[in-house]
Amino acid sequence: MAKLDENSNLSWGRTGEATWAHVMGVLFVVTSTPVLVFYFFIAINHYQGRAQDPLLNIFLGKETFWEFMSKMPAVTWDAVHIAAIWFAFQVVLNLLPDFLHIVIRNYKGGIQYGAVTPAGNILPYNINGLQAWLISNVLFLVNGFYLKLFSPTIIVDNFGGLLWVAAITGNLVAVLAYFKALIAPNHAKDCKFTGSILYDIVMGVEMNPRIGKMFDFKLFLNGRPGIAAWTVINMSYAWKQYELYGHVTNSMLLVNYLHALYVVDFFWNEAWYLHTIDICHDHFGWYYGFGDLAWLPWMYTLQGHFLVYNPNQLDWAFALFVFLLGSASYLMFRSVNAQKDSFKQSEGSCLIWGKKEKAVFIPAEYVTSSGDRKQSKLLVSGWWGMARHMNYTADLIGALCYGLACGSFEFVPHFYFFYLFTLLVHRCLRDEDRCRAKYGKAWEKYTSKVKYRLIPYVF
Ligand code: NDP
Repeated sequence: MAKLDENSNLSWGRTGEATWAHVMGVLFVVTSTPVLVFYFFIAINHYQGRAQDPLLNIFLGKETFWEFMSKMPAVTWDAVHIAAIWFAFQVVLNLLPDFLHIVIRNYKGGIQYGAVTPAGNILPYNINGLQAWLISNVLFLVNGFYLKLFSPTIIVDNFGGLLWVAAITGNLVAVLAYFKALIAPNHAKDCKFTGSILYDIVMGVEMNPRIGKMFDFKLFLNGRPGIAAWTVINMSYAWKQYELYGHVTNSMLLVNYLHALYVVDFFWNEAWYLHTIDICHDHFGWYYGFGDLAWLPWMYTLQGHFLVYNPNQLDWAFALFVFLLGSASYLMFRSVNAQKDSFKQSEGSCLIWGKKEKAVFIPAEYVTSSGDRKQSKLLVSGWWGMARHMNYTADLIGALCYGLACGSFEFVPHFYFFYLFTLLVHRCLRDEDRCRAKYGKAWEKYTSKVKYRLIPYVF
């Protein structure tokens, strides 16, 4: 057995410390993100999506702060009912066995396994997200066109109340997850307490909290109700545009198409998602509870919401350009992620870019917190030899296209790009710290061979 180099860290998960700066950072995020969610809601509904107007009006004395605050939405019973039915429906769908992998070849559904956790656990997951997404979205369409049991604009019409319900539930889930970690963790050795209660609630303690053996908080909350809701919410916006103006603009169709590509890709590759940082390395706390329930469904769909009140019809040549660039960025996103995935699944014996090149890699070793030595490999060919995170680059080009698809210079449709840029750059830096701790000299060798992070020769 190869000797582990001295740079390797026996605890390669999140470190057990929260500095003063970490605590201040999470305090800032916890207080600012809910404010942003409601601020954008008001800007879209009362200021036609001009995010600067409320602040400017208050600053110039055209409006008082309290006049602005009177536009805050209220919690309604209708919203509570809608959210409860959607949530319960998604729980039921999540508990069903997967039937799709029986009928669709090459689709990896049913019981699949995650990566090794820092304590050395490998957990099973019931992968049935595509099935749940199909049932939810087809039922929404069937209701909209034929059954008409409820209006397809139900989400936009109850948006403010739903925001409240999502925000309150997101906070409750985070507190619940913290106490569960204290009282009844599923895998105690994978828990990380830092000594700061605030930091632990926000960034999480348990890595994969579950109810029973299979109901996984992280996979469930991120995929359903969060990502499955994304396309349903977008359809609701399109229906609202039709109700208000008698037609749906090409910008709305483009936004629906680009978002749907991303969402369907996520569910088609849900088994791949088990090997991403979200599932493998992050602990479950407010970051995921609030993020999945309140931030993701509402902030990731800002473009469609903006278009409800700004029905821009794009010049067809520009629409085609955004369509092609958005589709190409998606293909790149999938290709980069698939390259690492097939490399990991085949333990290094895969071809890169068809038959051209066999995978070149750096052998690496790490130790789990229970002391077991494991072997791994760092890919240095294909996309992963160009820069260390070309998958983030592709994601960012896609995000840029979502904003361009709205055909507006207002900030709201482009917010997602700036948000994702911040999130992915931060994620890139913290992932690299973790990989350095995990792989030691092998990681240093990789970064000396592949020097750039997101854009070759630039960053
Ligand atoms: P990655 O899929 O890039 O995973 C990073 C991990 O891959 C590392 O921790 C390491 O894990 C392993 N790794 C890194 N470099 C190599 C290499 N050269 N060879 C082999 N393994 C390597 O990151 P994410 O999980 O963050 O992202 C997955 C996708 O999800 C991305 O496309 C991203 O853009 C997208 N995403 C989207 C978000 C959104 O909100 N829209 C949010 C977050 C992500 P290990 O320890 O297992 O070796």
